[in-house]
Amino acid sequence: MQHNQLLKIAKDFGSPIYIYDSEVISGQYKRLMSAFSNVKQVKINYAVKALSNISILKLMRTLGAGLDTVSIQEVKLGLTAGFPAEKIIFTPNGVSLEEIETVAKLGCQINIDNLSILEQFGTKHPEIPVCIRINPHVMAGGNTNISVGHIDSKFGISIHQIPHILRIVENTRMHINGIHMHTGSDILDIDVFLYASEILFETAKNFKTLDFIDFGSGFKVPYKAGDIETNIEEFGEKLTKRFNEFCEEYGKDLTIAFEPGKFLVSAAGQFLAKVNVVKQTTSTVFAQVDSGFNHFIRPMLYGSQHEIENLSNPSGRERFYSVVGYICETDTFANNRRIAEINEGDILAFKNAGAYSFTMASNYNSRYRPAEVLWHNGEAHLIRKRETFDDILRNQIEIDLKPKKKSVKA
Ligand SMILES: *Cc1c(COP(=O)(O)O)cnc(C)c1O
Repeated sequence: MQHNQLLKIAKDFGSPIYIYDSEVISGQYKRLMSAFSNVKQVKINYAVKALSNISILKLMRTLGAGLDTVSIQEVKLGLTAGFPAEKIIFTPNGVSLEEIETVAKLGCQINIDNLSILEQFGTKHPEIPVCIRINPHVMAGGNTNISVGHIDSKFGISIHQIPHILRIVENTRMHINGIHMHTGSDILDIDVFLYASEILFETAKNFKTLDFIDFGSGFKVPYKAGDIETNIEEFGEKLTKRFNEFCEEYGKDLTIAFEPGKFLVSAAGQFLAKVNVVKQTTSTVFAQVDSGFNHFIRPMLYGSQHEIENLSNPSGRERFYSVVGYICETDTFANNRRIAEINEGDILAFKNAGAYSFTMASNYNSRYRPAEVLWHNGEAHLIRKRETFDDILRNQIEIDLKPKKKSVKA
């Protein structure tokens, strides 16, 4: 998108605001599909938690994607967006048996990630097909915040517990139709991922009734210049070869499934905020925007270095800035960042703000959550209104705090 288009959206709909470009999303979807074009059946289930706006879900539906969900509310959003239940996979962690049963009754694919629920669900509903989430104990990436397959992770059933899984399946006669892993948020090294895939293939051999193998996600997207990006084409080529070999060995054409969030929506999104104050101190120049971690928490929560562009003065002389928010907490978006000269009133764009950005927004400091706009076919469509004061008060109950009545003694 061009600067003037972005600035016009900020002018028309106000700031701060999230803007998503539908063309980038569909481009990423097609890229992933074509990387696996040599597998007979490919399923891409978009991870709703990355960006759950109903218009984004509808866009995913028109592209042909399914959904990966982690709560019954995400399931309901998917159904509301028009997805048939069978295109929704439910991959929760630590939710109640009741919630899983409710989602199963709606007709979604269930993915179970612990032995206790597996045994209870299999005992009560042996006829409902279930996918099993395996923890292959492979570290993908070096940051323990985002590596979910290693030994201390709370996610998945350990590969060392396969004998116990098999005992449950045999005793309950439940139907296992899929095997799943999601090793973490970053596939830094394709060989590490392929190594984990081999473990999944070994595991899959234990189950004779599979329809699919789900490799989760972890496709890395670059946040700043020089960041590593997963080479999808190379990854597709290597995994396709192994997957097709495995299907031959297994004796059936299985479906290969993925559930990317970030890969599909991260680069499509930008977060725009307005500079309220430029503050010179003895040590730096602060640019303070009309936002904070209440709207965009990734830089503070994960240390993500999102590129920042001054849309109002793109060719200005570059200076070093500390970009911070207006929340009464430390809310640093960037330190010592070279940005074209910033004046009060300028609009800054934070890049790569499509995934885990709006969905993690809150009302901290009683601020409104931002509006969202989808740029589609050359037009800006408001897909979420900015909140108002009514939203802040909604569900709050103001009670009558009369002084306590004195009890009357007999
Ligand atoms: C969050 C999540 C994803 C998506 O991960 P990305 O890094 O955004 O691609 C996929 N599968 C499961 C089970 C998840 O919890």
